[in-house]
Amino acid sequence: MKAIVFTETGKFEYTDYPEPQLKKDDDVKFKIIAASICGTDVHLLSNPPGIVGTPGIVLGHECVGEVVEVGTDVISLAIGDRIIFDNNVPCGVCPACQTGNSNLCQNMGSMGVFEDGVFAQYAVAPERQMVKIPLDIPLDQAIFAEPLNCVMGAIKKLKVMPGDNVLVLGGGPIGLYFTTLLKASGAGKVLVSEVSEFRTKYAYQQGANRVIHPLTENLVEVIKNETNGQGVDIVIDAVGVLLADAIKAVKRGGSILLFGQNDKARQEISQGDIVSRGLTIYGNFIGHYTLYNVAKLLNSGIVDFSPMITHRLALSDFGIGLDAMRKGVALEVVLDPWA
Ligand SMILES: [Zn+2]
Ligand SMILES: [Zn+2]
Repeated sequence: MKAIVFTETGKFEYTDYPEPQLKKDDDVKFKIIAASICGTDVHLLSNPPGIVGTPGIVLGHECVGEVVEVGTDVISLAIGDRIIFDNNVPCGVCPACQTGNSNLCQNMGSMGVFEDGVFAQYAVAPERQMVKIPLDIPLDQAIFAEPLNCVMGAIKKLKVMPGDNVLVLGGGPIGLYFTTLLKASGAGKVLVSEVSEFRTKYAYQQGANRVIHPLTENLVEVIKNETNGQGVDIVIDAVGVLLADAIKAVKRGGSILLFGQNDKARQEISQGDIVSRGLTIYGNFIGHYTLYNVAKLLNSGIVDFSPMITHRLALSDFGIGLDAMRKGVALEVVLDPWA
């Protein structure tokens, strides 16, 4: 089959690769109908890498699949089923897994990072990593399932009240999924802070009430103006380096959810401010038993992510999509392994 293989630091190759086979009785083999490029792939292929992957593997972890073969123990899926998929495979037996925190598994397998992923024509994964979806969910919505799963993990932690005002720091794909889902969850104003003009248009399209340009506007002043001087109820940092700004923008007793990840970032934080204003700070890592919720969300038709698709390419043109992501002129790049 054809695949995009991670060859060495910063490099990949479109090449022939052996078709994966079932290894365990609960494995499912699926045909990749469509895949999409994630920020993670960009970090994996940076030099020096932002995320260190294993050379020699098939890249990619976002896809929609069609089941073509099932192991003897598989009970929920049959040949021909359409599936969405979570590439992070927890071990099930470590202390984190056994206390209900499998998203924080200490031995997490990660397809497309450490093991073969989905920028290929076929992939194999355990049944429990997949949820069947109806065939009438448009591919242009279903393709967003994996990142939505991560964002749904965060939404589950936040107790959004109808009318709550929310600030989303960063209007990249993740920030825009949050924007869309928070509006669907009954948020009042969703304010998005984003420097890029390109992304601003999409933020409004996905439901932002106001996009703030933090380089030319005073973020905190705009927030105060938009919220009767109170600050927002909830701040989401989709970037990973903006906790200090989040603390300034949130109301007394408000919540901050940290989602973006930058392991090198260091900031000066006023800890006393968190105490005296009674703030709640959440960290969230990937989805947590939310893939089924994603399937329900997609099936409901209450949200539309398809306007965020900026590129549709053959898998062989992965490099074109990667460059567009690097330059910040792409949001969702959909790849067709069969074109
Ligand atoms: Zn992803
Ligand atoms: Zn585990």
